[in-house]
Amino acid sequence: AKKAGKACWRFYEPVLLQETNEKMVLTNGLRRGLERGEFLLNYQPQYDAAGKRLIGFEALLRWNSAEHGFMPPDRFIPLAEQTGLIIPIGEWVFKEACLFARRLADMGKAAIHVAVNISPRQLVADGFVATVRSCIEAAGISPGQIEIEITESIFIESVEDAIFKLSQLRELGVVLSLDDFGTGYSSLTYLKSLPVGVLKIDKSFIDEIVSDQAQLHVVGAMINLGHNLGLSLVAEGVETEKQLKILSEYRCDRIQGYVFSKPLAAEAAIRLVTDSASG
Ligand code: C2E
Ligand code: CA
Ligand code: CA
Ligand code: CA
Repeated sequence: AKKAGKACWRFYEPVLLQETNEKMVLTNGLRRGLERGEFLLNYQPQYDAAGKRLIGFEALLRWNSAEHGFMPPDRFIPLAEQTGLIIPIGEWVFKEACLFARRLADMGKAAIHVAVNISPRQLVADGFVATVRSCIEAAGISPGQIEIEITESIFIESVEDAIFKLSQLRELGVVLSLDDFGTGYSSLTYLKSLPVGVLKIDKSFIDEIVSDQAQLHVVGAMINLGHNLGLSLVAEGVETEKQLKILSEYRCDRIQGYVFSKPLAAEAAIRLVTDSASG
């Protein structure tokens, strides 16, 4: 038994070391990246289902690393969460998104909102609500122009604490949006006690609505449920005209996805606003 144990240890040790080393390198990269200004935000437009009116943007984080090249968020956000670096990075994101909202307001387009993703770690951190307030004040925008996207994973730690913080944000005047709706474990239990105004239906549901009648019924039920609770519905990851047509028939309030646009660099997003009917 000892021998087998040893053999196992020998087998795993180099892999573990390699993994921690990679993590350290990446963590240092993240820290330096923040100092060097390697992060940027892209903005993906949201339209009404007719595609006529530009309603808002979702801010999506990008990291253009000097050492690692372009890194998609799925590759570095989990590590930023583990190491706590998501706190300063998230603060930068929020500040930057508020400044973008300010540019829209200066164009007379304050009705176009900007949605920002936040991690559970950010919400539980002391001072998060104060940070949000000061970013909004510093940018001189109306809190209602900012939407904060949360996921159901914020309830894993403490439901009461999460609801308390969310209520404080709601009182500030920001709009709360429940992201990836339906993929969590407890959506329906918490939904009625959450101060959210928006539900985002996850792409995984949208993918199948054309091919799978049952999945279409699920999405239809989500939209009706949300509307009955007085919420606004966003479908994300909408890629085709067929999906768009169905979602329009089901009276989905907003559409986000490649069918209209991929996430855009800030300047391209501003140009889009200049060129489109919106508000
Ligand atoms: P998410 O919040 O669910 O964001 C939607 C993702 O779907 C984005 O990927 C977006 O580019 C992509 N997407 C939008 N429309 C389509 C479509 O029609 N087809 C396909 N195939 N994809 C589409 P992205 O930008 O890579 O972001 C991935 C995830 O990273 C986000 O998922 C979010 O959970 C996280 N994330 C991004 N930015 C931030 C941030 O600033 N803070 C935090 N905490 N998380 C972020
Ligand atoms: Ca999101
Ligand atoms: Ca989402
Ligand atoms: Ca998603």
